[in-house]
Amino acid sequence: MAYRQTFIWMLLVLAVRVQAGSQEAGAPGQRGSAHEHGVSELNVAVIGDVIEVSLMSPSINLVGFERAASSKAEIEAVASLKKTLESADSLINFGAAKCRNISATVDVGSLLDRDEAGDVHSHSQSHDHGERHEEKHYDVSAIYQFQCAAAAKIAFLKVDLFDAFAGIQEVNVLWLTEIRQGRKVTSAKDRKVVFE
Ligand SMILES: [Zn+2]
Repeated sequence: MAYRQTFIWMLLVLAVRVQAGSQEAGAPGQRGSAHEHGVSELNVAVIGDVIEVSLMSPSINLVGFERAASSKAEIEAVASLKKTLESADSLINFGAAKCRNISATVDVGSLLDRDEAGDVHSHSQSHDHGERHEEKHYDVSAIYQFQCAAAAKIAFLKVDLFDAFAGIQEVNVLWLTEIRQGRKVTSAKDRKVVFE
């Protein structure tokens, strides 16, 4: 990754921590984003005519289960998920900026490796009945690059993940351009994020 992009991502990670940090228990080494069923996270960095997007999601939102795939149907579901996530142009839309997906790195490994423990952490913060218990959670991630033919028209993005995945109720979008940043909780009915 180029130095400049690394720098942008460092800023973005910092912004996530500052804005979302207070909600998290945050053990060292834990991932920055919360794992909440029905909710997926999208980080967006606009760098000139390139837009870098990272998607993080509990696997239950995407395939309906959180365990290593074992049945034939589950293994097929994971293969189909990977294909869908690799078709990023139908998941995220940048309107008149004419941005096309030029690279997609999709990680569904946790669902395929039966020895992997998944993303294990205490789930107690998401429950209000006070019991402490451990559950295994599985996350899927993807990193995308979009190249925009009309960079001057980069003004918003539309989250179309809701059409592909009925299990996603909300997508938390954190975005960063070279001069602004913001966040928005999107839903199927309110999926447009304007960079202003
Ligand atoms: Zn989970």
